[in-house]
Amino acid sequence: MSAAAPGCRLRYSARAKRLRLVVKPAGAELVIPPGVDREQALAFLEQHRAWAERKLAEFRARAATATAPVGFLAGATLPFQGREVALDIVVSPDRRTYVEFDMGFRIALPATAAPTEPRVKAALFGWIKPWMADEAARIAARHAVRYGLEPRAIHIKRMKSRWGSCGTRGAINLNWLLAFAPPTVLEYVVVHELCHLRRRDHSAAFWDLVARHLPGWSQERHWLKRHGGELLRRFA
Ligand SMILES: [Zn+2]
Repeated sequence: MSAAAPGCRLRYSARAKRLRLVVKPAGAELVIPPGVDREQALAFLEQHRAWAERKLAEFRARAATATAPVGFLAGATLPFQGREVALDIVVSPDRRTYVEFDMGFRIALPATAAPTEPRVKAALFGWIKPWMADEAARIAARHAVRYGLEPRAIHIKRMKSRWGSCGTRGAINLNWLLAFAPPTVLEYVVVHELCHLRRRDHSAAFWDLVARHLPGWSQERHWLKRHGGELLRRFA
């Protein structure tokens, strides 16, 4: 919900007494009373944005389990960073394909391109790849200060069965589907692969190194064991 506030309707009401943000399954609505200007209203919206997003994600998660199609199809939801968000597919006003994220994914495809799953998936990968490279670089930088484990490069890839790998020449590879796991899980996989820069095994010493970076690592590993298979089945 930026200044233009897509995803949130603004409604001016003569009867309203105060600013009110209403979140329903269909979307969010900001009710603006007399005497409050647009700038104040948007500041209020910005202040309560996180709450509204959480609320909407809850509605969508509930709706998703009930009726939504699964995968990369219009009307589906995606668990972006662990929270279900909508996936909308619209016709592009020009011939370009583009992806926007604002509380949910909106993918615009040229009118000539049918919204097939591979096409939607490719468009989404094009958006997630640089996004995740940034996220992973930030995570790596945060952890590098400890023991200087710095990757030579970070590659985001479409992998079928693995979450990450560490190349022999110091580059780490990450599965783009980590975008659909909680942020702490992405952090764990980055740290796991960084630690392989020092130790190329899964010995006690390796896990000790992981724990020194990330004391709660076993919880994240457990999450992957428990939900990772489903994520791969659903999206890989
Ligand atoms: Zn490993």
